[in-house]
Amino acid sequence: YDDRDGKIWLDGALVAWRDAQVHVLTHGLHYASSVFEGERAYGGRIFESRRHSERLHFSAREIDFEIPWSVDRIEAAKAEVLKANDLSDAYVRAVAWRGAGPEMGVASRANPVRLAVAAWHWGNYYGDAKTKGARLDVAKWRRPAPDTAPFRAKAAGLYMIATMSKHAAEAKGCSDALMMDYRGYVAEATGANVFFVKDGEVHTPLPDCFLDGITRRTVIGMLRDRQIAVHERHVMPDELEGFEQCWLTGTAAEVTPVGEIGPYRFEVGAMARDIADAYEALVRA
Ligand code: PMP
Repeated sequence: YDDRDGKIWLDGALVAWRDAQVHVLTHGLHYASSVFEGERAYGGRIFESRRHSERLHFSAREIDFEIPWSVDRIEAAKAEVLKANDLSDAYVRAVAWRGAGPEMGVASRANPVRLAVAAWHWGNYYGDAKTKGARLDVAKWRRPAPDTAPFRAKAAGLYMIATMSKHAAEAKGCSDALMMDYRGYVAEATGANVFFVKDGEVHTPLPDCFLDGITRRTVIGMLRDRQIAVHERHVMPDELEGFEQCWLTGTAAEVTPVGEIGPYRFEVGAMARDIADAYEALVRA
């Protein structure tokens, strides 16, 4: 995948895809001093582009480094990457990290901060789940407490347990895993937020120890515009049995209905379908 045609923006300039390399002594590789964004362009326009670039800056500050490129410059870089690769509907990945440098220990203030932006075609994140409903496993790993990990950052280090949980789920034939938090409350999937429907009202976990996704905020706004009550609250795992519908939200996942979580079943119902369709219309508006 690294040896292909195309361009990647790296530290201020477009370089050939296959030349966008880093050194093995990169600090971010050893100590997870890395933050990233996942964005989607629709018809050449990135949905909520600026908010993603701002979140990238915010995430870096949360883990104690400053990105040496302004939000405006990152916005321009993303546009350059889409243009150079002739992409219109695409996934965009911006990533910033502490590079190789004089410090190979835990501290790394002297090492340069690097930034890359790549883009590629990425279809449905969960395959045919949009129509059938995704199958989710229940993860054994829990989202850590707010004083254990900087949960507001979209930081690479937070994805170690996500990758392990997703692999375990896929080994069981599921597309993703639902993660509980350190207290045992329902938190989110490994790369998407979760919503539930009961008696015409929506319930979604309070994002007090996991990423409050841009898609999550967008969908809450869409539901409230429809006068649908949305309860952001702690959700207990034993409530799963009583929910009628469920869906995931995320930039890659968009709005994906969920058909099952472990032993629990959900219908791909009217509200899930309506919100999925409305989200698609919104991002292309
Ligand atoms: N939680 C996690 C762990 C994620 O990786 C993502 C994807 N960025 C989300 C939630 C959803 O965030 P967003 O809607 O901003 O893409």
